[in-house]
Amino acid sequence: MLGMRRTAGPGETAAGDADGADTAATRKAVSKVRFGDLDEWGAEERPHVSVVGAGIGGLALAGALSSMGIPYTVYEQARRLAEVGAGVQLSPNAVRPLLRLGLGPALRERAVAIEAMEVRGWSGRPIARTPLGAECERMFGAPYYAVHRAHLHDALLSLVDPDALRLGERLSEARETGPEGVRLSFEDGTVRGAELVVGADGIHSTVREAFRRDEPEFAGLGIYRGLVPVDALPDTAREPLVRLWLGPGGHFVCYPVAAGEYLSFAATVPMAASPGESWSAPGDPEALRGVFGGWTGLVADVVAAVESTHQWALHDRPPLDVWSSRRLTLLGDAAHPMLPFMAQGANQAVEDAMDLAACLADPAAATTAARLDRYQGLRIPRTAEIQRGSRGNAGILHLPDGPAQRRRDARMAVHAALRDRAMLYAHETGRSVVPSPA
Ligand SMILES: Cc1cc2nc3c(=O)[nH]c(=O)nc-3n(C[C@H](O)[C@H](O)[C@H](O)COP(=O)(O)OP(=O)(O)OC[C@H]3O[C@@H](n4cnc5c(N)ncnc54)[C@H](O)[C@@H]3O)c2cc1C
Repeated sequence: MLGMRRTAGPGETAAGDADGADTAATRKAVSKVRFGDLDEWGAEERPHVSVVGAGIGGLALAGALSSMGIPYTVYEQARRLAEVGAGVQLSPNAVRPLLRLGLGPALRERAVAIEAMEVRGWSGRPIARTPLGAECERMFGAPYYAVHRAHLHDALLSLVDPDALRLGERLSEARETGPEGVRLSFEDGTVRGAELVVGADGIHSTVREAFRRDEPEFAGLGIYRGLVPVDALPDTAREPLVRLWLGPGGHFVCYPVAAGEYLSFAATVPMAASPGESWSAPGDPEALRGVFGGWTGLVADVVAAVESTHQWALHDRPPLDVWSSRRLTLLGDAAHPMLPFMAQGANQAVEDAMDLAACLADPAAATTAARLDRYQGLRIPRTAEIQRGSRGNAGILHLPDGPAQRRRDARMAVHAALRDRAMLYAHETGRSVVPSPA
């Protein structure tokens, strides 16, 4: 792996440099590129990357760029990086590249390697069980982890050059000024030129507006999320399982995180109307108990122990046909916001980051535009399918007891084998684009 270098790129110059006139001569003089010798790359082959957003996707990209010696700057609106108190499931398709980036020790120390995923009906009847653990490592080359979002964020941050991270910088517009550059306008009035911009700015993305001015679509569902100390729960809560319970009008998911210290829960319920811009708000534990208090075993135990929770209104957007231009592209929720019912949003953001970094480092592509085109060609079909699949799952998880629910349960049982997840978990990022250096 190439070492990390920090190069002050034209992406950090004042407005006007976006036209790149001052670097044109340098570009002409650049000698031809060989993979593994990035120092010889010219500005055209190796533009400075301006990443907007320091969420899971933006940081994963920054980490991958660091490992390849590609210069970058990350602009993040928050003055202080903080993540919500909730867990995230990391499947092998994302864990494998994260291990390659060196996050193995952090994940082993702070995440929980999950042994199996169990699905039950609200009254406790078993529906399906998918083995993970050793079988997952054997079949897909990596564990299935459950991790506290803040711990994943910290681990990714450790890969990022602190000098390349600009906090408190809220982008208000990204506009391509011609073949050579992009003009970035920030809320405080600052304008910067950039050579290549990646919008990793989440579901409310500003960069996305360069491709389509659509609005997030409300799914008619809300989700309560939070953490409960396992000490407040029966011993069974310590088992390294992802558990789902499906019932009429709602479903409940929980798994241990933070080296097993906490149980992360997510409880989905119908929500009559979108609360508008305020999509995340403190939730009422009593309301949570009102819906799930009568459910079986651990569900009732968890909701009884909840002291505080947050509630989100769930939104996604339809897939984009195009998300790259000559100098602009998208990644993660900015590109393909999805409902959380395949637990793939963060995993797909990591995949995007790895594929984008690999495309940018691909010596076979003649221009940045060609690299971005290759990236969207790799990513759009896959992420669109997962967006649609996640929407489809929203319709089947909350069936009332009856024939349709029984057919769903039978189908879930038939498709519980781990090999049935190959479409998600076997996907290999990066390698299809760039061969490993000799
Ligand atoms: C209830 C729930 C459960 C989930 N569970 C899972 C799971 O188990 N597994 C999974 O893979 N996924 C899961 N997801 C999805 C996952 O959380 C998201 O897909 C993922 O966090 C997206 O990462 P991102 O980096 O693209 O965006 P974000 O995490 O939203 O990060 C965007 C960043 O950009 C910054 N930003 C925004 N606008 C600007 C601006 N104008 N200027 C500068 N900075 C800006 C933001 O402050 C933020 O830091 C879940 C989602 C929900 C709602």
